[in-house]
This record gives sequence, structure tokens and C-alpha cells, in this order.
Amino acid sequence: MAKTIKRKTASKKVALKATAKPGKKSTSSKKVRYVYYFGDGKADGDGKMKALLGGKGANLAEMTRIGLPVPPGFTISTDVCTYYYDYKKTYPKQLSGEVDAALSKVERSVGKKLGDRTNPLLVSVRSGARDSMPGMMDTILNLGMNDEVVEVVAEKSGNPRFAWDSYRRFLQMYGDVVMGVQKRQDEDHEPFETVIEEIKHEAGVEKDNELTVDHLKKLVERFKQLIKERTGKTFPQDPRQQLWGAIGAVFGSWNNDRAIVYRRKYGIPHEWGTAVSVQTMVFGNRGDTSATGVAFTRDPATGEKVFYGEYLINAQGEDVVAGVRTPHPVAQLAEEMPAAHKELMKVRSILEKHFRDMQDLEFTVEDNKLYILQTRNGKRTGFAAVRIATDMVKEKLISKSEALKRIPADSLSHLLAPIFDRESVKNARKIASGLAAGPGAASGQIVFNAKDAVELVHKGERVVLVRIETSPEDLRGMIAAEGILTARGGVSSHAALVARQMGKVCVCGASALKIDYAAQTVSAGDVTLKQGDFISIDGTIGEVYAGEVKTAASEIVQVLVEKKLEPKKSRIYQEFDSLMGWADKARKLDVRTNADSPEQVATAIAFGAKGIGLCRTEHMFFEGDRIDAMREMILAETVEDRRKALAKLLPYQREDFVGIFKELKGWPATIRFLDPPLHEFLPHTEAQQRELAAKLGVPADKLAHRVQELHEFNPMLGHRGCRLGITFPEVTEMQARAIFEAAAEVQKNKTKVKPEIMIPLVGFPKELKLQIDIVHRVAKEVAKEKKTKFNYLVGTMIEVPRAAIVADEIARDADFFSFGTNDLTQTALGMSRDDSGSFLPHYQELEIVKNNPFATIDQAGVGKLMEVARDQAHKTRANIKLGICGEHGGEPESVKFCHRLGLDYVSCSPFRVPVAKLAAAQAALS
Ligand code: ADP
Ligand code: MG
Ligand code: MG
Repeated sequence: MAKTIKRKTASKKVALKATAKPGKKSTSSKKVRYVYYFGDGKADGDGKMKALLGGKGANLAEMTRIGLPVPPGFTISTDVCTYYYDYKKTYPKQLSGEVDAALSKVERSVGKKLGDRTNPLLVSVRSGARDSMPGMMDTILNLGMNDEVVEVVAEKSGNPRFAWDSYRRFLQMYGDVVMGVQKRQDEDHEPFETVIEEIKHEAGVEKDNELTVDHLKKLVERFKQLIKERTGKTFPQDPRQQLWGAIGAVFGSWNNDRAIVYRRKYGIPHEWGTAVSVQTMVFGNRGDTSATGVAFTRDPATGEKVFYGEYLINAQGEDVVAGVRTPHPVAQLAEEMPAAHKELMKVRSILEKHFRDMQDLEFTVEDNKLYILQTRNGKRTGFAAVRIATDMVKEKLISKSEALKRIPADSLSHLLAPIFDRESVKNARKIASGLAAGPGAASGQIVFNAKDAVELVHKGERVVLVRIETSPEDLRGMIAAEGILTARGGVSSHAALVARQMGKVCVCGASALKIDYAAQTVSAGDVTLKQGDFISIDGTIGEVYAGEVKTAASEIVQVLVEKKLEPKKSRIYQEFDSLMGWADKARKLDVRTNADSPEQVATAIAFGAKGIGLCRTEHMFFEGDRIDAMREMILAETVEDRRKALAKLLPYQREDFVGIFKELKGWPATIRFLDPPLHEFLPHTEAQQRELAAKLGVPADKLAHRVQELHEFNPMLGHRGCRLGITFPEVTEMQARAIFEAAAEVQKNKTKVKPEIMIPLVGFPKELKLQIDIVHRVAKEVAKEKKTKFNYLVGTMIEVPRAAIVADEIARDADFFSFGTNDLTQTALGMSRDDSGSFLPHYQELEIVKNNPFATIDQAGVGKLMEVARDQAHKTRANIKLGICGEHGGEPESVKFCHRLGLDYVSCSPFRVPVAKLAAAQAALS
């Protein structure tokens, strides 16, 4: 996060420098450059300049420098985008001159000129932000085409079909992106697609590539008409005008709806902006010796070291991705175009060695000659991330610390996600198979569009989004769904791409499926399923089942927790294990777990947790009959009655702690005393109250009365936390006794026990002092009774701002602090976690808050309080132990913050332990 801020100001500065006096000619000696040329082995920019040139532009420059076949062009920097939005969609003065100069250089390099009558140059105008935002912004191909140029291209190439196909594509893209001819609300299809369908119908053909030159000419006419009808403007014939129109539209696409949704989802700052690359066209649609394709240097779903990709003969641009025709696997290129394939394999190895990471590349073959149009570090699943990183360490391509830094910590949670249970799969009805595009298992109700997906998920249902193919409009639905299933499209299709990035389960290109949007059905063979029926998909192997299929634990869990799979039988476990080993060596921060039961403790210890950071004792009170004793305690009117009820609870608590201490095998356990308000333990409906009254043998109205008494207007700020222990010290006493009696019992058998007793919600030093006195007294009593000694600590949670501010005084009595960032966030922001759902999303949209503060620590506010508490505490107690036990303890950004804060440990739920360990290692390495 700090990085982002730094970069942000840096780019602002550049923009300011360049634009300080927008009216005057820039005469300063340090002239800002806006346009960066690349071509013929030389480039003004390089791969490191992603902030300025966008990922695409920077890598086009880098690939040019290392001698790869990249068509020449130039990139207009992201600063121009910033300027464009700061100055009412205008450009810096010097831009047009720089563009002219760069364009001339391109024209000289390829010996063609934009709009020329004998040797016309055609270019693409491509978008590209610092981080790739696949398919979110716009790109325009074949720019420079007009009524005259098309004739010249037809004649020069001897291939009129190609010329007219390129022209109609240009009209379509230009009409859509620049002139805004798009689907209207009442339309089901893109208007240009509708026209294509009409022509195909008239011609009696099924596929685009079966249209003849005459059909294509007709199509061009109709496209021009359509543009005129819809916009009232004629399509511009002047290539310069086209160029500036396209540049403006690409900058404009930075702020289209789907780009905004995408940035929000991935936390990409709105002020980054996009660059624009203008590049000489090469043509994959020149006939059967031409093709266009995409490839990954390794399998992006599994990480296996195989070249992975697909291509289409006689096609252009997005055809492969859009699923117009079914592409061929890249291996087939070896037969169809052996020379180009050989080149491509060379490029694969050069790229991996140079970028030292798996690459996702776009290529075009024009007349058997290979061109590379894009490369970037490939998006991958969590599985692939781990496999590629560990393999590359073995291949000595990267170091262990690079491997650690490269794997998004959160992606480890994909590895721990359930898979389908083998037995249940045997009994399930398989109805189709497709490409394994996003590993994992997902079961849910069928929905056919994003809107329904979002609505149902909002109601708490699990859904699988079933589409013929997906497009960026489906993004919201894809985010909401458990899994994504498409009938069309390959590994580079939109669905696969997005699923990979989000860690969604995905099967794509399951071509046996017939999807009928109008009837809301999907069928395969004799099975027909409707919207709302269950469907199950296995994205690890690419299979689709009718109905719900039971899931089983991931292989890693089977090895570590269930202990029913041998480590050497699971490759993914072994990779995970090496990675965790490296992480343990690198990290400074310890990772503990939030656990309330022996089972949870066992799971967390298996994942490498070093003890418990938060044991919520009240969770134990809800089980079985204990709740009744608890309720008796609450209803008691005298101390004696209360003690009687507490005596019933004591053995239960003691047994729970015995189980936990045994499972901990000597690791420490931070145990928090009773925290929630008492009314949470009582029934609230009249019927329930009557039933309970009968059970406890008390009058129903007495019970109702007590519930009434305990009612709080704002329970979050009410009678809870240590305030309970202060008013009912006998509760504290019972809990302390349960802990020490359990400790005595367990340590009798030579197992070490290290309780760290934690008093919640302290704000005043005296609150803590009173509670601690009870704990010490009980410890002494039990030690005497059991003739033993205890090794324990007493500390407090820091979860109200006052505690942070007077932490120096509180630290006098506390052996440790644990930041309870759930409550600290609530109390610092004055915002209830449970009620914030109604406005927080809006806050995020308006960028009032960047992240949900209940998920990622609000570093500037809550984080500052933590810093204050740390510094105050160190004044009185230099070696105070510091930890965190809020939900944030398992969230990578927050873990990194805790590392910087110098905490001793973070604590998180058992399944987040590996994520926290990796994040801690990454923090130590950066
Ligand atoms: P995106 O960021 O959406 O991937 P691109 O700018 O990469 O958009 O363009 C999409 C596709 O258009 C490319 O994959 C490529 O096939 C095609 N394309 C772009 N520029 C050119 C070019 N100069 N020559 C040939 N094809 C191009
Ligand atoms: Mg691309
Ligand atoms: Mg709390």
C-alpha cells in the first residue's frame, strides 16, 4: 500500500510538471516526453516502465529490445491519460507533434504511409494499463482503412477478401468504440452482430469466413449506414481523424463501467490511467498461411511445464478469445505451419529466460511469418502459482525468496479448498466435459445471467453461472458465483481468464451443452436442467455433473489434518510443504490461531500454527446442556445463586481446557474471558422463553422480565467484555479456576501448559488491575491445592481507543497486548460491523474507503492507534508481547502491516494459517 501511494505522487508530479502552464509552450530544459517509439530492435522505453507505458507498451518495448519480431509502433504514456481527465478531455499541446514524429518513424520503418494511395499503412490502437485488465478496455484494429485504401489493399495483396474483411472489422470496432454504436437496452444482440447475422442469412452461410467478397462489400455498406442511423454522423474517411478518434476513445475506455468494476475488484487505483499503443498491423486473416493465437509458456491452470495455447487460421484479433470458431490447440500448429511453430517455441524459451516467469503471449502469423504482439506475466490459479514457483526454483530460474514473493498469499486458500468426494463422484451423473480452466469443486443452482447470479447469492444461495460464453458484462455474476461453466471458448476465453484470476472454479468449452437462454435451460443428451436446478462442476479435471455432488477435503488437508493420504502420494502437498518451509525460514512474525476446540487446535497446529492467539470461551457455553447452566447463572438474583450455577459450568470449562492444552503440546494459549453481553445467551421469542422457564422451573414472567432488563440499545457498546467480570467477579473467578485446574491436570503428565489469560475490552487501567488481581489470587489458590506451579501470563486486548492512548498505564499490569482489531475498528470508526453493510459498499464505490476496514486494517486510522499503543506500552514495558487476534490477522495486507509494526505474532482461523505465514514471509523479504 505504501508503494501505491509513493507511485501515485510520483506520477502526479510528472503530470504537474508537464502541465503546469497549459496555455504556454513548454520551454523548460527538462522536456517531458509523452510518446515512446519501438521498432527495428530499438525502443525508447523498456520493460520497467510499466507505470508510464502500461504493461503492454513497456513489454512491447522490452521485446523489441531483445530482438523478438514485434511490429513497430509507439506508445503514448499514461501521463497523457491523467492530463486528459484533469483538463476536460484535452491533450497536452506538444502531443500532436510527438505523435506525428513517431508515426513518421513507423512509416519509414515499414515503408508505408497512413492513408497512402499506393502503400497504405494500417495500425492498431491498443489500450494498456500498468496491470493488465484483460478485455476491460478497448482496442481498435485495421485503422487507416477507408473506401480508397480498401481497394489499394485488395489489389496489392491480391486478396480482396482479406481487404474487405479487414475493412468491415475496422468499421465494426470503430463504430462501437469510438462512435458509440452499442447494444441498446431493448436489444439482445450487438447491432453490428445483428447485421452480420442478416447478411449470413441472406447468403445462406453459417460461418463468418464463408462470406464472399461481395457479401463483405455489402456488409461494409450496411455498417456505414448503421453508424449514420445511430449517430447521425458519417464514418470518418480521413485516417488522421480516425487515429485521434481512436486515441480519445481508448483513453475514454479507462472510465467505462466494466473497467471501473474491475479496478474496484482488484484494488487498481483509478488515477493510474491507461497508455495507448499505436502499432503497425500484421494480418492473421490473409488466408490459410496466416493465423492468430494466444499461448502460455506453462499451463496456467495446473502450472505444468507444457506449452499451452490455441490459434485460429485465417482470423484476426479477438476471434480466438471471442469463441467465434473453435480454436485449435497450439500443438497442431507444428503440422499446419511448421516454420512458424518452430519460431514460436524459440520465442517461448527466450521469453521465459528473459522474464523469468510464466508468460501469456499473443501472436499472429502473417504468411507463415511469426509476430509477437504482447507478453505479460500470465495470470494463474493458486495451484499453478505454487507449482510454477517451486518448479522454477528447481530449474534455478528464480531464488526461493523470489518464489515466495511471487505467490499471492491469498491464493494458498485455493489449495485448501474442497474437491469432490471420490465416492460421490462415482454415483453422480456426468453430463459433459470441457476444459479444466479453474481448479476446485463447485456445486450450486444454475443461473444463466449475471443479474440472477447476484440476486440469488444475495439471498444466500450458492449458484453456478452457466453461459454459452462470458463477456466482461458478466463480471459481477462471475464474482458472485461459486463456479462458472461455459459451452464455448478455450483456455484463453474470457471465462477462463477471469476464473483463473479470481480463483473461481471453472469449466469452459463444454461443447456438449446446449444452452437456451430464452427457455432458461441447459441440456446434454437426454438430460435437461432448468434455472434453479443444481449442477456440479469439477474445474480440476473439467467435468460437469447434474445435481449436487458432495465434496471432500483438499489433498493438503487429507495429508496434514485427516492424515489419510501419504505425503509422497500428493504432489501438491509436497510443493506446499517446500513452500511453507521456505516461508518459515524467511518470516519474523509468528502465526497463531483463533480456535475454541481441540479439533480446531489440531488443524491449526498441523498447518504450523504456534499456539492459540484467541480462544473465545463463550463459544464453549453454547454447547449442549451448558447453555442451561449459563442461563441459570444469568437469571440468578444473588451471588450465592450465581456461584451455584457457575459451579455447574466449571467442570465443563475445565474439560474443554484440558482438551485444548493437550492438543497444544506445550504451545501457548491466549484465552479470553467472557466477552458478549449476557442477553445473547437468552431466548428472545415468547415461546422459547416459556419453554426455558418450564425447564428451569422459574416463572415465565420472571424470565421475560430479566430479558427485558438485559435489553440494550447498543449492545456493542453495552454491558460486555471486562465490564461483566467487574460486576460479576465470580464469573472471572470461575473461568480462572477452570483454566488453572485444567493446567494442573495436563502438566501432571509432563505436557507443558502456557495459558495467556486475556481480559477483553479494557479501557481503564483499573479495570485490568481488578481482574488481574482475581486471576493471580485464584492461580495461587489452585497451585496450593494441587501442589504445583503455573507458567502463565495475564494481559489485555486493545480494542477501544482509550486503551491505545493510555497503553503506557495499562502496560504496567499487562504482560501482553493483543489487538482486537474487530472491535478496535468498530470503536475507532464508530461503525458497527454488522450494520455497515448498508452503506459501506457505497463508500467503497465513492472511494471514501479503499478497502472494507473490517477485512483489511484501516492503516491510517486504526493502524495509527495500534502504533500509538505500541509506543506507549514500550515506555513502561520494553519487552511487552504484542499480537493481533482480529479477523485481520489472516488477511495478507494486514499481516504485512503487523510485520512493519513489529508485532510478535498474528492470529487467524486455522485455514488461514498458511496464508498468514506466506504473507509474513513476504513482509520480511520486501
Ligand atoms: P487486450 O488488452 O484486450 O488484449 P490488445 O491490444 O492486446 O487488447 O488487442 C487484442 C488483439 O488484437 C491482440 O491479441 C491481437 O490479436 C490483435 N492486435 C492488436 N494489435 C495488433 C497488430 N498490430 N497487428 C495484428 N493484430 C493486432
Ligand atoms: Mg492483448
Ligand atoms: Mg472484542
